[in-house]
Amino acid sequence: MVAAARRITVLTGAGISTGAGIPDFRGPDGVWTRDPEAQRLSDIDSYLADPEVRRAAWRGRARHPAWEAEPGPAHHALTELANSGRLRALLTQNIDELHQRAGLDPELVLELHGSMFGTVCLDCSERGTMRAALNRVAAGEEDPPCRSCGGILKSATVSFGQALDPEVVRAGQRAAMDCDLFLAVGTSLTVHPAAGFAELAVRAGADLIVCNAEPTPYDDQAAAVLRGDLDETLPRLLSVPTVPNSRP
Ligand code: NAD
Ligand code: ZN
Repeated sequence: MVAAARRITVLTGAGISTGAGIPDFRGPDGVWTRDPEAQRLSDIDSYLADPEVRRAAWRGRARHPAWEAEPGPAHHALTELANSGRLRALLTQNIDELHQRAGLDPELVLELHGSMFGTVCLDCSERGTMRAALNRVAAGEEDPPCRSCGGILKSATVSFGQALDPEVVRAGQRAAMDCDLFLAVGTSLTVHPAAGFAELAVRAGADLIVCNAEPTPYDDQAAAVLRGDLDETLPRLLSVPTVPNSRP
């Protein structure tokens, strides 16, 4: 399937970055598996209502492992797939920018849940960099307000209770419906609408391959399921030589 595919759409999740030292949420060592309270505090209502939640969020961003992380073999394998011209789009639920850091053309990346390296004002929508906000936190502003309107500032990521960017969702839907192979990589496929892209692709006639250490709700719709560590399975899977013109 990989050898024959001409337009491959990939959806990645936190599992592709655990090898780089960024824990996932729901895996055995996941942030929420170890501390279920963390999930409750990650919705937008608690962020808006409670300054202590915001202060904790900024502290968490400052020590987030993504600042130090380097892309791993699985990220690089996807960049090579793009270099072969067969990557239709890469949809990611990750906020760590490791795909871009691995050299993937930013035009091919759809960040469904945003990026932790940006900030946005929840009142006037002004954008900024996380670095600038964290400099203000380090200088003593524990919960820095928006410089333009005084509103509540937040990392430019999608929390529970927040809508995804509708343009990004539409572009993701197009990429899911316009591929001959859909790879779901390192995701528990439990967060919607991200997980729904796999189903959309299957309904539009694509083959689905699930590459994940643990079972997902979409395994029975998959043409193939690959367990095991992505830093080993994905480079092997994607190094298969292309079959010329085996599909219309
Ligand atoms: P998830 O935690 O729900 O699922 C990750 C899956 O990856 C698990 O099923 C786990 O078994 C699997 N996995 C972990 N390490 C693996 C490895 N080395 N090889 C193969 N499989 C592995 O993550 P999700 O589905 O992406 O959803 C979580 C949400 O959390 C997303 O919304 C995302 O935005 C956010 N998140 C992002 C990051 C990041 O940017 N790196 C990290 C944690 C959470
Ligand atoms: Zn503002």
